[in-house]
Amino acid sequence: AKEKEHINLAFIGHVDHGKSTLVGHLLLKAGAIAEQQLDDGENKFRFVMDKLGEERERGVTIDLAHQKFSTNKYDYTVVDCPGHRDFVKNMITGASQADAAVLVVDAKDGVMPQTKEHMFLSMTLGIKQIIIAINKMDMVDYAEDRFNEVKEEVGVLLKSIGRNPADVPFIPLSAFEGDNIKEKSDNMTWYKGGTLMEELDKLTPPEKPVDLPLRIPIQDVYSITGVGTVPVGRVETGIMKKGDNVIFLPSSNVNGATGEVKSIEMHHEQFEVAEPGDNIGFNVRGVGKNDIRRGDVAGHTNDAPTVAKEFTAQVVVLQHPGVITIGYTPVFHCHTSQTACTFLELTSKLDPATGQPQEGTPDFLKTGDAAIVQIKPTKPMVMEEAQKIPPMGRFAIRDMGQTVAAGLCLKVTSAE
Ligand code: GDP
Repeated sequence: AKEKEHINLAFIGHVDHGKSTLVGHLLLKAGAIAEQQLDDGENKFRFVMDKLGEERERGVTIDLAHQKFSTNKYDYTVVDCPGHRDFVKNMITGASQADAAVLVVDAKDGVMPQTKEHMFLSMTLGIKQIIIAINKMDMVDYAEDRFNEVKEEVGVLLKSIGRNPADVPFIPLSAFEGDNIKEKSDNMTWYKGGTLMEELDKLTPPEKPVDLPLRIPIQDVYSITGVGTVPVGRVETGIMKKGDNVIFLPSSNVNGATGEVKSIEMHHEQFEVAEPGDNIGFNVRGVGKNDIRRGDVAGHTNDAPTVAKEFTAQVVVLQHPGVITIGYTPVFHCHTSQTACTFLELTSKLDPATGQPQEGTPDFLKTGDAAIVQIKPTKPMVMEEAQKIPPMGRFAIRDMGQTVAAGLCLKVTSAE
């Protein structure tokens, strides 16, 4: 049988709005888990998640962040939600890039702070497809009026990130009771749209960015007897063929390490060509183990990766115990690079309601703020404009052991 196309799904939304419950019930309805894995009682579906969490702590292989389920049309993988562990960092460094997000909104509460924050974040992280699940409809008597009120509120948010609400599915459901997850609910005959599973099947699987410039962030560098130096990494964009001339930047070699691709290996097999998504080891004539390291990026010599002197970025502050001011120098995680970078300038804050820059320069940024800023890496690093090469232009900002902010590069000044 032909392999089904695959979609990575993130569940986002305010705490307690029902993300875990919805994922648990969806996995059950899709036949990915068994009823026996569920507890009885109030937290029936959420229990699955908690139990998986515990098992994960104990090192057992079930891991919610990689739960899979299938419909007739696609295979799906659930990627972790924001707020869980290293979600943002993993999304940005490509470890668990989501292709689509389900935004869960409690029908009783409506839009809450994290609903907004996650909506901004999904945009920052480049998630283009979004489904709105208006949850806990059982708690508002399955009322169409209330659904429409919340739909209106969420619609305002969507417009603020440049999305047309008319193009986005809104599904009234109950994660707990199971309404409109797989089967159409008899409790909401007024709703004419698809169930969650039907709407998931209308998503578009990600296209491989084969037409973008070649970029392979290096994860590791090995020395292999009989082969030589073997950098290892995942092709993010573009295509690399045997015989191509490639350059590694920034590289400890001042002008970049360059050479011709001699071999490409994947799962112990030799290939002529590598394309986006491929995790490869490759060997380049004349490039030694000391010329390159993790965080360098390989590209074609005639369309080399951009080493940033400075860049303009849009950032969202996710959880910072204090404030961010000029001079702050946390670690930026971008592709496989981890580089300390300094906030040179806080240019303008973005209005959370409209996404537009506000008047005046802010003195500081705090949790929940989105802003345009000017950044200077403390040492050479590759950074690309997110509009040109999306996976190479996103970053997570880490400090004190947590992801404090996320962002994307709007404009880069290259270091020549
Ligand atoms: P999360 O923080 O977004 O993952 O939210 P949870 O899935 O943990 O749900 C929070 C609480 O809301 C739990 O007590 C759930 O049982 C409850 N809950 C979730 N979905 C529904 C629903 O559709 N109806 C009702 N009545 N309760 C729900």
